[in-house]
Amino acid sequence: MTSHARLALVGGTKTLTTEAPPWPTFDDSDRRALLDVLESRVWGGYHPTVGELERSFAAFHGANHGIATANGTVSLEIALQAAGVAPGDEVIVPPITFVASAAAILRIGAKPVFVDIHPGTLNIDLDAAKDAIAARSANGAHVRAIVAVHFAGLPVDMDQLMALCGDHQLVLIEDCAHAHGAEWRGRKVGSFGSFGSFSFQASKNMTAGEGGMLTAIDPAIAERARGIVNQGRRTGGAWYDHVTLGTNARLTGFQAALLLRQLERLPEVMARKARSADRLRAGLAEIGGLSPLPGVIDPRVTAHGNHLFCVRVHPAAFEGVSRDVIVQALNAEGLPASPGYPRPLYNNQVFKDHAHVVTPCPVAEELCRSVFWLPHNVLLGDDRWL
Ligand SMILES: *Cc1c(COP(=O)(O)O)cnc(C)c1O
Repeated sequence: MTSHARLALVGGTKTLTTEAPPWPTFDDSDRRALLDVLESRVWGGYHPTVGELERSFAAFHGANHGIATANGTVSLEIALQAAGVAPGDEVIVPPITFVASAAAILRIGAKPVFVDIHPGTLNIDLDAAKDAIAARSANGAHVRAIVAVHFAGLPVDMDQLMALCGDHQLVLIEDCAHAHGAEWRGRKVGSFGSFGSFSFQASKNMTAGEGGMLTAIDPAIAERARGIVNQGRRTGGAWYDHVTLGTNARLTGFQAALLLRQLERLPEVMARKARSADRLRAGLAEIGGLSPLPGVIDPRVTAHGNHLFCVRVHPAAFEGVSRDVIVQALNAEGLPASPGYPRPLYNNQVFKDHAHVVTPCPVAEELCRSVFWLPHNVLLGDDRWL
């Protein structure tokens, strides 16, 4: 665009003349897979595709066990319970994430301790987490666990996180809802903590409309989670034999059939998104005033999930024009930019009504005013689109 072109926001012609690449995508193999489940009449319970997905998804992520669930919210609740987090326990969580990361802690009767994020990565600030653990213990409380979110698909610094968990005997639950296939030093997310919790909700990097998955290394806690998902049944046990207190959080064969195909396509999809993200990063560097987050990706991140492409706006570079106006201008040009979360989670009514702890979160507060993101499907196009 030349400097004389009029912005679409003020009546100029839209820059992007085609829609963003669609999500989800499907082809005839998805149609056939769904018909196979349909015709099998095994619509509920455990169609063979569910076990197949559990095994393939876990193996792909370097975990020993996969436990399919109804969604990525109950999977977090089940992970916390199966890992032994009890009512009253304190659990560290960042305030910049989807509500489920922290609501799951409340749902099992535990107490969220909100810890700020790092301005360069938007992941939890692990130095601040360390300080929070010390401050809580000075108050006579005890932090038991951490829900670490690989935000936007960028792995948390797992070297520092594993050291922190080791030093304080923290239970680690990885919220991998944005991070299918993401890697830290060649090791996939979901294989570090007691559990990795994945979502297959409609907007995520793999989707069946709804759905979730837990990955685990330890067979005993994996079996505990599997029992909770399936009405307290033991693996191989009788249908009406209920050993533990469970619920019904099963995934269906229809969902698993779609997800198996997406898992096959994931490496290619990730490679395409990585290429688009690199191009976008290079292009933004020429503009100034808009910094991609992170600016430089830590070389220990060997694969980024690229669920969201986050950008920090520096209004001073735009004569004070706000992030919100820039998002409106981008939308008008045909780019589906989003201002993202309107407030840190703890400012939602639900947390005011339930016991929680907030440590100072200036970075999170500032981010809600200055960052926007692009959804992953923007990165799915070819060179013509981005
Ligand atoms: C989407 C999401 C969840 C919840 O997943 P659902 O499948 O929608 O229940 C949890 N954590 C994060 C970070 C998410 O983005």
